[in-house]
Amino acid sequence: MIQEYPCIEVNLDKIAHNTREIIKVCRREDIETVVVTKVFCAEKSIVKTIIDEGIKTIGDSRIKNLINVKGLNCKKMLLRIPMISEALNVVKYSDVSLNSELEVMKSLSIAAQKLGKTHEVILMIDLGDLREGVLPKDVIYTTKEILKLSNIKFAGIGTNLTCYGGIIPDKNNLGKLVEIKDLIEKQLKIEVPIVSGGNSSSLYMVLNDSIPKGINQLRIGEAVVLGTEAAFEKDIKNFYNHAFILKGEIIELKKKTSLPKGRVGVDAFGDTPSFEDKGVMTRAIIALGKQDICLEGLYVRDEDIDILGASSDHLLLDLTNCKKDYKVGDIVEFNMDYPCLLATMTSPYVMKCFLK
Ligand SMILES: *Cc1c(COP(=O)(O)O)cnc(C)c1O
Repeated sequence: MIQEYPCIEVNLDKIAHNTREIIKVCRREDIETVVVTKVFCAEKSIVKTIIDEGIKTIGDSRIKNLINVKGLNCKKMLLRIPMISEALNVVKYSDVSLNSELEVMKSLSIAAQKLGKTHEVILMIDLGDLREGVLPKDVIYTTKEILKLSNIKFAGIGTNLTCYGGIIPDKNNLGKLVEIKDLIEKQLKIEVPIVSGGNSSSLYMVLNDSIPKGINQLRIGEAVVLGTEAAFEKDIKNFYNHAFILKGEIIELKKKTSLPKGRVGVDAFGDTPSFEDKGVMTRAIIALGKQDICLEGLYVRDEDIDILGASSDHLLLDLTNCKKDYKVGDIVEFNMDYPCLLATMTSPYVMKCFLK
């Protein structure tokens, strides 16, 4: 079979390893891991790998991604608070969703009655990051209202941090979440089974043993996929960092000056470019562009190569100081950060291949 480029090579063994490690790390603190699949669009063979390692619940922000894995044997959590317009699909294709609006949960209830199903909801609480969630003062009222909804099961509470406001999880905010759980249990005389304490930014507290007792679930994407925790962007010990590698093909390789010739206007994206004169360079063009990547998060694996820039479909590299003798048709490999991985996995122009 001829390999098509650009392609993203996914090392399933590394994903499996990171999954085993995250399960182990979280289990020590009595925390269940929900693996978050949105950055790789819930690509089926990756999800299968994760389930094979013992993950019982996967989470994704898009219902379309969950529809994509509907046959697979795991519980499905919808992470992005649902749209009223998608309520029917949410109940059909997910078992549990994160929620913050009663109106939405009412439409989930109606959909669940229609489908003869029970749908679980986790009530999200905003502890300072200012993305989704009810304010702590409204939790008791909202929970009472949820308990009145038919075909809806109140599964617990959760929070999300370090996504919009950049707020780091700590003993105060996650401690507050556990306090709220205790308050609900005492005031409403019900059990709160799940206390979902955030994403990969909460992991550092698991690793240094400071996560408040009572947090019993984390929703983890980045750590499994990139091997980094998300509060301080540190590598996690024993995790693989490069399970995903992007490969692109050289379509032009020439010596050219470093300064463009002629009157300077704007580039393809309307910006006025500026250049440093480095004399004659060895320049390569890769068949990859801003339609497929996030340029700021792209790193050439051959450290002798620098990235010069990109337009929609062309990526320009400086190979002047390269030890390896590249030719037209050769493949250049890249590492990616989270936004860049998200872009490449989402691009239909980037082939996906799986190594095992
Ligand atoms: C994306 C997301 C996660 C996972 O975040 P990571 O930093 O990748 O671990 C968890 N919860 C919610 C609500 C999310 O949207």
